[in-house]
Amino acid sequence: METTDFFADLLGIKRPWFVVRVLTNHCQKRVDVYLDHERNIQARCPECQEFCSVYDHGIEREYRHLDVCQLATFIHVCLPRVNCSRHGVRQIASEFGEERSGITNAFERRLLDVAQVCDIQAAAGLCNVGWDQCWGIIERAVERGMSRKPHRIPEHIGVDEKSIAKGHVYETLVYDQQHGTVEFVCDDRGQASLEAYYKQFDIKELADVRSVAMDMWDPYIAATKAYIPEAEKKIVFDRYHIMKYVVDAVDAVRKDEHRSLMKNGVDTLKGTKYLWLTSEENLTEDRQKEFEELKKRKLKVARAWAIKEYIRSMWDYFYEGCMRKFFAHWYWWATHCRMEPMIKAAETLKRHLDNIVTHAKHHVTNALGESINSKIEKIKRMACGFRNRNHYRIAIYFHCGGLDLYPRRLDKPTLRIRPFTPQLVGVTH
Ligand SMILES: [Zn+2]
Repeated sequence: METTDFFADLLGIKRPWFVVRVLTNHCQKRVDVYLDHERNIQARCPECQEFCSVYDHGIEREYRHLDVCQLATFIHVCLPRVNCSRHGVRQIASEFGEERSGITNAFERRLLDVAQVCDIQAAAGLCNVGWDQCWGIIERAVERGMSRKPHRIPEHIGVDEKSIAKGHVYETLVYDQQHGTVEFVCDDRGQASLEAYYKQFDIKELADVRSVAMDMWDPYIAATKAYIPEAEKKIVFDRYHIMKYVVDAVDAVRKDEHRSLMKNGVDTLKGTKYLWLTSEENLTEDRQKEFEELKKRKLKVARAWAIKEYIRSMWDYFYEGCMRKFFAHWYWWATHCRMEPMIKAAETLKRHLDNIVTHAKHHVTNALGESINSKIEKIKRMACGFRNRNHYRIAIYFHCGGLDLYPRRLDKPTLRIRPFTPQLVGVTH
């Protein structure tokens, strides 16, 4: 088999294209594959999709392709220009890679797959490209995905703020709770941040929103009330944030008690923070035993922990009335426990109760939000490679946007062998 035929086979080059020349350079670890096409062809006009005769050829283009035998592989091709009777002289669409991308669609797909599972530095290294080129491909993929994204507002929205750097630098994130995607990322966490998202939609679209899950954060509440019709019934203070208030209160009790025990030289609570804050079912067997022993002692934090555990079942209710009844019971217990942090947390929850019990109706689970959170934490850890805030935002859309990122294959071939036309038999050109 000729080398040219071998490479044509390897790269999936089909008639009327063929490989005309292969140059291998082992010092530079690259192979250059030159393509040409048969002469008796027609090419497709990019406007009307009709096959027309070839007018001339554009300048040679070079596309980086997937490595062959660990050699960086480049495809060289001069794309024909057609002479269309309706549209004049036009460059045909490239079936190798997108305009000005300099890479084949196959290479681009591979790089995007790799970049989904590792950081930019590693993806660039594994695909043997520079950081800037790798980032450029990701940026273009996000742009492509955004332009394809249908204009619609999710029925169940989640809003959250994320600190992205030290010194209170925040971003506002809007999620689609049903699909677990990030719909919007915007600077800061003020009213205007969330309003910038709502402003993209008209009143009819905004009325279709059924619930907005959020933390008890006034600017988000104000923005939602200003834009979403009947917002009072739709705002749901989500479980994750509510539980955080209670968990933080348990931790405050623990710290306080630990401090006073240590004054008397008792270190019972040393190294036990995790036991009180995490769910019991997530503890290892050893730690569960240790925890059982601790709970038998007369500790304040054990009482605070029990109060926290009790409120977890509030989220199982499907009727607002039942949820209110349960809360009243819990509230009485929490406010009579004589532990200041627990009382404070209970009072905060009571003040916001109207939009906590909306959970019963909408039953917004935060499982998707939490999985997005962990993804975003991962992005933040990889953020050493992000040179600015905009890069961070693009990375969130890339990993969590649920976007269609890949370049599209052309659905029709761009060249064909000129069909045989009987009336031309015997006619010389
Ligand atoms: Zn045309």
